[in-house]
Amino acid sequence: MRHRLLVPGAAALSLLLAIPASAADFTPGSPGVGDTYYPDSGNGGYDVSHYDLRLKYQPKTDLLEGTATLLATTTQDLSRFNLDFGLKVSEIRINGKKAKFATSGQHELEVTPPAPLEKGKKISVVVRYAGKPSELKIDDFTAWARTPDGGVIAQEPHGSAWWFPSNDHPTDKATYDVSIAVPDGTQALSNGVLASQTSKLGWTRYNWRSDKPQATYLTTLAVGKFDVTTDTTANGLPVINAVSKDLGANEGSARASIERTTEITEWLEGVFGPYPFNAVGGYVPNVPAGYALETQTRPFYGSKAFDRGTNVSVVVHELAHQWYGDNVSVKDWKDIWVNEGFATYSQWLWSEKEGEGTAQELADWVYSQHPADDPFWTVKPGDPGADKQFDRAVYDRGALTLQALRNKIGDKAFFDILKSWQTENKYGNGSVADFVKFSEKKSGKQLADFFDTWLFQPSKPAAGAAKQALGAQRAPVAEPKSWKQIAATTHETHKH
Ligand SMILES: [Zn+2]
Repeated sequence: MRHRLLVPGAAALSLLLAIPASAADFTPGSPGVGDTYYPDSGNGGYDVSHYDLRLKYQPKTDLLEGTATLLATTTQDLSRFNLDFGLKVSEIRINGKKAKFATSGQHELEVTPPAPLEKGKKISVVVRYAGKPSELKIDDFTAWARTPDGGVIAQEPHGSAWWFPSNDHPTDKATYDVSIAVPDGTQALSNGVLASQTSKLGWTRYNWRSDKPQATYLTTLAVGKFDVTTDTTANGLPVINAVSKDLGANEGSARASIERTTEITEWLEGVFGPYPFNAVGGYVPNVPAGYALETQTRPFYGSKAFDRGTNVSVVVHELAHQWYGDNVSVKDWKDIWVNEGFATYSQWLWSEKEGEGTAQELADWVYSQHPADDPFWTVKPGDPGADKQFDRAVYDRGALTLQALRNKIGDKAFFDILKSWQTENKYGNGSVADFVKFSEKKSGKQLADFFDTWLFQPSKPAAGAAKQALGAQRAPVAEPKSWKQIAATTHETHKH
């Protein structure tokens, strides 16, 4: 008895000792992660490891109902924290207990747990919500696209606030289970593999699983009527492609393009190393947009990307992003060159392989097309500014920079870097500055001035520097066969 009486006393004492001296040590998590271009993107104070989204969507009314379960670990002593989300929330529970919440700003949800949370604590956050995502406007913009038979979300740099609460920044990656019920006869697509599919009382539930770290903006959802093809690659990787049944004249060219996915993925493995995820594929919903997006394992292609017929080049671009953008993501949105420069350069390499113009010829062409007074050269790919984040120059001058680097350090060092950057930063993030340092280390050359000229000066690199880095400038430079299609690839997802 005596012994048993002592135990609660000792437990109470240790509990007291574990409580920090002052409640003031617990502070709110910041409303942003400190991104240079988007200060309120993401949130401070915790790190999400997994999202479990259980959803129901009715295409007729655009009503989305959801329960999101986030698994996270606190990274500071927290009195409260924020989520990025725009739909109406009815209840939030933390570790099973009801939490208070309030909205602030354009997409901030301030969550106050029933008791402060210590640093390093594993927490579960359950959020119940409902709303019509197409009616949600953030900065006068809606990222959700309603289609004749459903809805689609695929947007950069932000899209998650329209359909699930998150820590919306590429520096906080997580795994995903996306389960969504839609009316029978309608399909729902997301990232990764389809783990199961069941029908009950007029609704079909699709359970998608993406089991490798994935950024919020790379998480996609498409509801509609699709022709779906499934296969596996020679290595056993599941391939899932989907084309909307109502694409009209673009259906054939869309399908002919994305059905090249397996072949292109295998070729890209030769350039960038092993494919990093659990599935591959692509989808073309009836969204009348010309842009495409590298949504993880399953790129989105707007139907207008196929207006001029088959477009394999855009498929090469989005699949290249599975490495440059998805496996290794930006640290800050100002690092966009680490995504777009490389995805565009992969189109140049594909052109070279297909005999439609070498990367050198494409570089010479881009360099010759823009005279020194062209505003093209005022955009700095290494830090273009939020309003120029998806400017043509980030892509074209960005790829030009890589051809210049290849010439400066030689093919062996260059292609070694393309692969080792992926293995050494697997499932992580990398900045432009990190890439400069990495290239110097791997090549054994001083490259700071070189990258400054190509990525950070608002002017055309001088002919001397360019000739040294590029091939001999023969005038006139002929337009490579592949150019028009490469030039048509754009990530101008939206403009405010
Ligand atoms: Zn891109």
